[in-house]
Amino acid sequence: MPTKHPTRLPIWHGTIISPTFPIEVLLRERILEIYRNRRRQQKCAILFLDLDGFKAVNDTLGHAIGDLLLVEVSRRLLSIVREMDVVARLGGDEFAIVVQHIRSRSSPQRFARRVINLLNRPFTIEGYKIHVGASVGIDIIDASEMDADQILRNADIALYQAKADGKNTARLYDPAMHAAVTARRQLEVDLSNAVLFKQFEVFYQPQIDLEAGTVSGFEALARWRHSGRGMISPTEFIPMCEENGLIEELGAQILEVACKDAMAWPACVTVSVNLSPVQFKSGNLPTIVKDVLEKIGFPGSRLELEITESAIFDRSSGIISQLSEIRKLGIRVSLDDFGTGYSSLSHIRSFPFDRIKIDQSFVRELGADAESLAIVRAVVGLCENLGIQSTAEGVETHKQLDVLQHEQCRSVQGYLFSEPVTMSETMKIISEFNTDPPKQISIRRRAA
Ligand code: C2E
Ligand code: CA
Ligand code: CA
Repeated sequence: MPTKHPTRLPIWHGTIISPTFPIEVLLRERILEIYRNRRRQQKCAILFLDLDGFKAVNDTLGHAIGDLLLVEVSRRLLSIVREMDVVARLGGDEFAIVVQHIRSRSSPQRFARRVINLLNRPFTIEGYKIHVGASVGIDIIDASEMDADQILRNADIALYQAKADGKNTARLYDPAMHAAVTARRQLEVDLSNAVLFKQFEVFYQPQIDLEAGTVSGFEALARWRHSGRGMISPTEFIPMCEENGLIEELGAQILEVACKDAMAWPACVTVSVNLSPVQFKSGNLPTIVKDVLEKIGFPGSRLELEITESAIFDRSSGIISQLSEIRKLGIRVSLDDFGTGYSSLSHIRSFPFDRIKIDQSFVRELGADAESLAIVRAVVGLCENLGIQSTAEGVETHKQLDVLQHEQCRSVQGYLFSEPVTMSETMKIISEFNTDPPKQISIRRRAA
């Protein structure tokens, strides 16, 4: 087992250079060579590679394991390059590979795919099974491209684009990427300003208790109104906040606004706030939550926190122990988007969840797809047996509601009742539903 610190990676016989060796020097050499042989129309490619999920490994398993992982990554990269190619660690979790004499413009893409597949295979380090991914940016160097700095910038832009397009992606540099990357960089600046100046809004979607016929709570959903682009979806800005280290601050802001707003509702109406798995990384979440509740004077019993299954899957980050601490404050914890991702019944056993939220993808297919019906039926039945509440998400049609009622699902949420609304509209919804006596939405019992 190699134990060398990767910042002191050896210069492996002509094929790996250490981060202290400027890659520009090497590139200039290659460029000169291509220029000298320009009649032969040689091309080479530079790949910039960034590991997906490396920060999480460092944060959860420690830097020593992170370092060993980088050494293993270097070894794997070296195992697929030829003697004439070069692998360099640029620093952090970034690597560069210079591939000599490429045959066509598509061959570096194929090579990048091989690299991604290679790094996707799990690593076993000191007994830990570690999964990482890789994003790759590619630039092709031929006699028309002679500026080493420009080539490095292009590869960097392609890498940035690859990361923006999702994990395990490779992108070949294209001049059109400039505008897209500049726009995204600007959006990141705007996002960090929005967090700094607390410019996020919180919308609320009612959760309906079918048996009581009332609104039992609201789910808080973050909104960002961008001055130039209009409303930006949380599915876009939450992952950006996760990547840029802003999510802990944003999460605390949303929690505070949601609890403050919920103070205005009747005491029987709860508020659910979504948590990102990244909010558990620092280990401070229980303290942050406790501080917010104390500051506002909001009872923990009226707060529910939603966490997705994939977060529970990552056992290394101490999520379970933090959730247990949170639960001691009287806060309920629900398992969100159940049935997607790494679905496994063992997740339900790993923590005493108070609620399971059946993902909208199953609800959408109710009435059309027998499998979805079977899954909804199984989850509702399982929750009943375990004494856990279940909520069906994304109910849009009366037909779906009928099926859910038939399956004795008690709690629902979806456009059929209401889209997420502003705080002022929540009061109207409460007065509409929570009348005295409550507007009954009867549950039809399934025949025994
Ligand atoms: P989610 O937690 O599964 O939230 C439900 C999403 O489904 C919301 O989208 C909601 O507007 C939408 N939805 C509700 N009813 C229906 C329906 O009947 N049909 C359809 N098609 N969609 C429906 P939204 O607000 O865009 O949020 C998307 C995701 O962003 C959320 O999914 C959640 O994972 C994340 N998110 C939102 N706010 C926050 C936040 O404050 N913190 C964190 N960490 N994540 C958040
Ligand atoms: Ca949710
Ligand atoms: Ca959900």
